[in-house]
Amino acid sequence: MTNILISACLLGIPCRYDGAVGKTINISHLREKYNLIPVCPEIYGGLPTPRVPGERSGDSVIMKDGTDVTENFLRGARAAYELCLKFDCKIALLKARSPSCGKGEIYDGSFTGSLIAGDGVTAEYLIERGIEVLCEDEIDKLL
Ligand code: SF4
Repeated sequence: MTNILISACLLGIPCRYDGAVGKTINISHLREKYNLIPVCPEIYGGLPTPRVPGERSGDSVIMKDGTDVTENFLRGARAAYELCLKFDCKIALLKARSPSCGKGEIYDGSFTGSLIAGDGVTAEYLIERGIEVLCEDEIDKLL
């Protein structure tokens, strides 16, 4: 079976910034076709759970308390890519709108819930290296 990378929070792992289980996806059909390799780039980048939320601000990622966590986010992105290489994942199914995992639209850095066009740090890193990144809303493309 084909391996694909997947945001761990989509599986119900409580790795979100607030430690809660957010919206999950039904993986029963997905598992019939793919081995799912879970990743949480923010944890792999050395951040704790729970943690202060961060948002992208240009090439940086800044937490709500002003802490610059860009290096943590980059470390997480590199770890996610490393998993893609080790497990031969050519596709990553990632959580929407996250500053790490979001694809196509992310929060704008103002912590007001406003969205802008753009990708999370990990999504961008993977796309630049040839991984096909799909947002959770695009799961049907895999089924
Ligand atoms: Fe989910 Fe990605 Fe955020 Fe981790 S970094 S909690 S996998 S959206």
